[in-house]
Amino acid sequence: MKKLDTQSFTFGLESIHKNSRMTLQEDCYDTLDIQRHIRRRWHQERDTLIARSYWTDAQKKEYVLQHLAGVVDYAFNQIPFYHEYYKASGYETGALRSLADFESIPTLDKNILRSVQTKDFIPRSLAAEAPEMFWSSTSGSSGVALSILSDLDSVSDNSLTYYRMFQRLSGPAFSADRWIYNIHHIRSWVSSMSGDYPTFTLNDIADVEQFVLHMELLRPVILNILPSYLPVMEPYARRIAQLQLKAIITNSEASSRHEREHYSSIYQTPVLDEYSSEEIGIIALECPYRHYHPEFDFAHVELKDLSRTGSSALATVYCTDFMCRTMPFIRYDHGDIVSVAGNDSSLCKCGKHGRTIERVEGRKDDCLQTTGNHYVPAAAVTNALDSFFNADPNVSSFRLIQRATLIDFVFMYTGADTEQISPSLRAFLVQLQTLLKMPVQLKIERVAALPDTSSYKRKKIISEARKNG
Ligand SMILES: [Zn+2]
Repeated sequence: MKKLDTQSFTFGLESIHKNSRMTLQEDCYDTLDIQRHIRRRWHQERDTLIARSYWTDAQKKEYVLQHLAGVVDYAFNQIPFYHEYYKASGYETGALRSLADFESIPTLDKNILRSVQTKDFIPRSLAAEAPEMFWSSTSGSSGVALSILSDLDSVSDNSLTYYRMFQRLSGPAFSADRWIYNIHHIRSWVSSMSGDYPTFTLNDIADVEQFVLHMELLRPVILNILPSYLPVMEPYARRIAQLQLKAIITNSEASSRHEREHYSSIYQTPVLDEYSSEEIGIIALECPYRHYHPEFDFAHVELKDLSRTGSSALATVYCTDFMCRTMPFIRYDHGDIVSVAGNDSSLCKCGKHGRTIERVEGRKDDCLQTTGNHYVPAAAVTNALDSFFNADPNVSSFRLIQRATLIDFVFMYTGADTEQISPSLRAFLVQLQTLLKMPVQLKIERVAALPDTSSYKRKKIISEARKNG
């Protein structure tokens, strides 16, 4: 038997053919043997995987603790970097007996990884050059490109979390003959399970008419895309709605809930966001009731409160891929800030238990810190800035700088006399103080050109506050 060539299903459509030739990172493990392995596991584990999604807090905690203890001891004994890192904090094998123990081990972030040599992050017992070892690399969009080593278990675990998501969203419609349509430069799972559940990957929509026609021929059950394609398809909304997709899943780029709700109604199918990273895979998925639920059974997601305002709170996210035995990330901080809600015993209308992520706010580096130790997403302040100065004829470019004192801000701009922009700036100051919930000193600095430093490229807001954690 030969592997099904899913990319050959182009029906003679020129632009589809041209934009589906790219070699994906996942192709290195997309062999018939591995597809068979995943297919076998899918049939054996599907019901358990689905049932686990609806576990209660107590069930989850017991399961998670056992796996966390396993991965931490494994890393401590097998991976040179973790051994040194944990030894320095006094860790000993078997020391992890509770979630509180786990939360006392040091966290990991890209800055720490930057100083680690790849060989020190690979388990001693693994031959990284063995045939069933797969290297991939993260894009480095957040500053550091990382090489990640996977083996059969980690690639099949990762694929299964994706198939479970498709299954949950599609219900009985997710049958072995139905297509998954993926528009991306990655796929994250296999092209089919030895012919079943085929996926077509398009690298880019170059011709919308041909793309819609292609979907009409394949009749996919799920469409997986970057949110920036949502408006591109809009002129074809009626035809897309007729496809009766079970869901459109967005990932990789930020999109707002408002946008997703808007396109859900236009395409008459739920447009739901997947919060994932190249290091961990799926972190949390948005349910039809618009809450993101962490997927707890392959990775452990810690939501660490940063500040609380009313019913919602901002939190940082630490992830541990506890099933991984090649290069496990343990208490890994991507640098993201999210809004969270609920508690361990909350029950969502979709049937899932536990705390939820309400919004992915973006990078922690993009947040403004306040004297009350709150973090305010820079996006909120950017909105306010834009509403005052984007359309102001007296201001041609601008930047807001928060000094290390936290309360001192500089509005740096190019354009007309300071006097002419003062009224808008005073109004903006009122909004800024409301957003930050603290008094602010705002200085105006008119310059000939905004200073151009590479690290601050195209940023409207810069915070010089010392980041703590
Ligand atoms: Zn839910």
